[in-house]
Amino acid sequence: MAETRPRKALIIGAGPVGALTALSLHRRGWEVEVWESRDDPRGKDAAPSNLRSINLAISSRGLEALRSVDPSIAEQFQNEAIPMKGRMIHHVDGKQESQIYDPINGQCINSIGRPLLNQRLLESLSSQIKIRFQTKLSRVDLNNRIAFGSGAEKDKKDVVTEDEHGTKFDLIIGCDGSWSKVRTSMMRMDRIDFSQSFIPHAYIELHMPADSTKPGGYAIDKNHLHIWPRHSFMLIGLPNKDGSFTLTLFIPFSSLSTLNSREAASRFFIEHFPSAVQIVGEKKLLDDFMNNPRGNLVTINCTPSAWSSHALLLGDASHSMVPFYGQGLNCGLEDVRVLNSVLEKHKISSTTSLGLGETDKDLELALKAYSVERQADLKAICELALQNYTEMRSHVLSPLHHIRRFLDSF
Ligand code: FAD
Repeated sequence: MAETRPRKALIIGAGPVGALTALSLHRRGWEVEVWESRDDPRGKDAAPSNLRSINLAISSRGLEALRSVDPSIAEQFQNEAIPMKGRMIHHVDGKQESQIYDPINGQCINSIGRPLLNQRLLESLSSQIKIRFQTKLSRVDLNNRIAFGSGAEKDKKDVVTEDEHGTKFDLIIGCDGSWSKVRTSMMRMDRIDFSQSFIPHAYIELHMPADSTKPGGYAIDKNHLHIWPRHSFMLIGLPNKDGSFTLTLFIPFSSLSTLNSREAASRFFIEHFPSAVQIVGEKKLLDDFMNNPRGNLVTINCTPSAWSSHALLLGDASHSMVPFYGQGLNCGLEDVRVLNSVLEKHKISSTTSLGLGETDKDLELALKAYSVERQADLKAICELALQNYTEMRSHVLSPLHHIRRFLDSF
């Protein structure tokens, strides 16, 4: 038997789920290394680096998960977030209708900048955690627990090299999002059920700038999630700290293909979203619409989410869902909380004396238990997210409908 040493987790992906997983396992005494294919965002302006999904709704599910790892982080995010106490329905005639989520207890969801969330989580990681940015997992030998990363050579972004000796680990954790490489490798090892389905809608982000003539710069009420439901498509808006709103248009690709000129798009917005055109300005709205990327929306389920004692999937890598329930990230963060409690329950220590290639039976059992515990909840929330797709763009228009489903995000 080899000498006792700390367990080593290699986490692929330093998105919010990867960062929280790293923090949590480090706190448990594990040796942690993280690989992220993108640049290091720490210490930089938290402005969005691309045009996709710049803010998110964090609910009590996500805050509870953050709190379980570090209460001060949860508190910090809660202070930085903008509470949204209900949804504001914008009718075509300009009428606005507030539907409060929880009139009795005042529970709400919270709008927070995605870059800020990711950056703050990464900044909270101790210097004892090795983080390699610009390092992409290129392949992994799961049997022998060796991963190979490739990255740009220093100062030569176009020259990509692979580290030939690889990096050893006890457990590789795929927090590498919807198109997970860790998942693909796991699926070659065993019978893993996998499903992936796209919805017919695309999403496009638009921007409502701050209005300097309004208090705080907010052109519409800052404490609501704004929805312009139009049955087969909809526009939504979440508030940002600077008084602006991030708007997202959800529309079928088939309708989008008819809006291929500025004139057609102008007619579409003026007919269906006159109040948004008036606030944002036609030019700005059309510039964003014509130039910004079209995103796909996918549901991915993968069961089990663990293989042997060697590999585990968390976050979107294990369960991608459409964003209409605002729970994708919240569930990813919850994965970390549940994993922690399962490791605790199974008394998985922070050290091991097993050699390379040996299977850790206790850890294998714990990971299996985690996967079983999460399975039904994740399937249910992916389905609820799909149902809320019709709810938000159509059902919210029915009078009193919100009373039936007034707590749609908790
Ligand atoms: P990601 O955020 O995708 O991070 C994965 C990381 O892995 C990335 O940094 C990537 O660069 C890295 N990576 C990938 N492959 C490799 C590799 N081979 N090697 C190294 N690194 C790699 N959720 C909510 O809870 N609330 C919301 O309001 C909400 N709104 C949304 C709105 C839209 C339009 C969309 C599309 C999604 C929304 N979501 C929301 C879902 C949420 O964005 C995701 O669930 C969340 O980002 C998942 O986090 P993650 O860390 O698992 O994955």
